[in-house]
Amino acid sequence: NKEFEVYYQPQISTKTEKMEGAEALVRWNKAENRIFPNEFIPIFEKNYFIIKLDEYVFEKVCENIQEMKTQFKDIPKISVNISKESLVDRNFLEKYEKIMKKYDIMPEEIELEITEGSTVNNDIDIQKILNKIKQKRFSIAIDDFGTGYSSLNMLEMMPIDTLKIDKSFIDRIDINEEKAILIEVIMFISKKLNLKTVAEGVETIEQVNYLKRWNCDLIQGYVYQKPLRFEELKKYIKGDKI
Ligand code: C2E
Ligand code: CA
Ligand code: CA
Repeated sequence: NKEFEVYYQPQISTKTEKMEGAEALVRWNKAENRIFPNEFIPIFEKNYFIIKLDEYVFEKVCENIQEMKTQFKDIPKISVNISKESLVDRNFLEKYEKIMKKYDIMPEEIELEITEGSTVNNDIDIQKILNKIKQKRFSIAIDDFGTGYSSLNMLEMMPIDTLKIDKSFIDRIDINEEKAILIEVIMFISKKLNLKTVAEGVETIEQVNYLKRWNCDLIQGYVYQKPLRFEELKKYIKGDKI
């Protein structure tokens, strides 16, 4: 019924202050109500409807990238959330590649976000799946990093490009900088392993300054922008006030 809409939240570079990426986030507009993903994604993951929804969001993203390319010279790299259920689905890669072909999208234009929790699995070889994705030249981000129960050697074994530092770590910056020590540790590991870092849920300028000091690459959060409708995203790229 066209009730699902894809929003985009800008990711700002700490070096250039420009938008270099954006994360696609789905919204459910049901009649007068807007339902947020935290309410329905966990249910959709249980009944596997998430496989259809992730695919739908991915197709919308491809369609939107194609449109942006006709209008702008530089467009942000779009990251898309992929639930574990979608990732381990047998036809995952084939289906997504077919969609990309339809809109003439290259894997370099997209980053796939999987949560840290998705990397832990005893039954299915996630590493093998990620290697296959990597071979196709997609970039892979680990979402909610630091909240799951994966071991640190996951970082060496999996073909990862980006770490997204979970908001719970960012929140500690204001309380007491000493409490934010884990961010420094994560930044240190990322640099050593040559991973890009994105800080999520950044709300204050103090947090921005702290993250700049520790050379975090990208900042995503209300301090810069909330998630925007596609029409608003295009205005934002143009530099119009929104
Ligand atoms: P996430 O991937 O960790 O996305 C970040 C969430 O933090 C988003 O919530 C975003 O709106 C919110 N956020 C961003 N900046 C700030 C900030 O400064 N302060 C605060 N308080 N929040 C901020 P959202 O859009 O409600 O999405 C919630 C979760 O639902 C996402 O968490 C993601 O795990 C999931 N999700 C969203 N869209 C999709 C999708 O298309 N597929 C799948 N599988 N999951 C999705
Ligand atoms: Ca995400
Ligand atoms: Ca996250």
